[in-house]
Amino acid sequence: MRLPLVAGNWKMHKDHREAVDLVRELDGLLAGLEGVEVAVCPPFTALSDVARTLKESRSRIVLGAQDVYPAPEGAYTGEISPRMLKALEVHYVIVGHSERREIIGEGDQLVAAKARAVLEEGMVPILCVGETLEEREEGKAESKVRGQLESALAAWSSDEASALVIAYEPIWAIGTGKTATPEDAQEMNSFIRGWLAERFGQDTASGVRILYGGSVKPDNAAELMAMPDVDGALVGGASLKAADFAAIARFRE
Ligand code: PEP
Repeated sequence: MRLPLVAGNWKMHKDHREAVDLVRELDGLLAGLEGVEVAVCPPFTALSDVARTLKESRSRIVLGAQDVYPAPEGAYTGEISPRMLKALEVHYVIVGHSERREIIGEGDQLVAAKARAVLEEGMVPILCVGETLEEREEGKAESKVRGQLESALAAWSSDEASALVIAYEPIWAIGTGKTATPEDAQEMNSFIRGWLAERFGQDTASGVRILYGGSVKPDNAAELMAMPDVDGALVGGASLKAADFAAIARFRE
C-alpha cells in the first residue's frame, strides 16, 4: 500500500552536462519499471537541465533537490528558496541530511524551518534522521532520532504529516560501505512509525514512507526493502552509476 521510493542523492557530484547524461542513461535503464517511484536529487546547478531533460523525454523519474533555505526570497547570499525549486518542478527536497547537520552545522531549528518551508510550497520534504556510531554504542540511537523527529515536526498536523517522507540514515553507514543490517533498519524504522502513530495517529503513520539510507547497493537493496517498515532507499554513492542505481530501483527483480 506504500509505494516504495528509491531516491538518489547525488551530493556535490556531476556538473549540469554530466547530470543530463546520467539521468538520460538512468531513464533508459528504468524503462518498463512499475510499482516503484524513482527520484533523483542533483546539485542546484544541474536542476534546470535535468528538469528539462525529464520533461522532454516524458520520464517518470521525479525531481528532487538536496537542500533549501526557509525564506521566500531576500538577502540570503548563496541560498535557494522553496519557490525557486518549485518553479523547476522539484517535488522532493532533502532536509536535515547528516552531512549538512555535521559539516555545515545545521541545527534542529533550521531543519524544522526548512521542512515547514518545503511543505508550505507544496513540495515533499525527505526528512533525514539518524545517530552517530558513538550514540548507537551508548544505546542512545532511539532518543537521538526521537529528538530529531520531535523538533522537526513539532508544528505539524496529522494531515500535513501524511505528505512526509522520512529517511533513517545512521551516520556511521553513510558513505562508509558499512550497511545497517536489515534488522537494524527495520528496528529503527518501526520505532519511527511508532512515534508517528503516537503523535499523529495510526492512519497517518501507516501512510508515511520511511526510507533507509546508508551504503545501499544493488546487492543489499532487496533484503533491506523486504523489511515491513522499510519503504525504499535514499542512495548516495551508488546513485552516481546509472546501472547500480537502476539495479537498486529494480530490487524486486
Ligand atoms: C546519503 O548520503 O544519503 C547516503 C545514504 O549515502 P551512501 O549511499 O553513499 O551511504
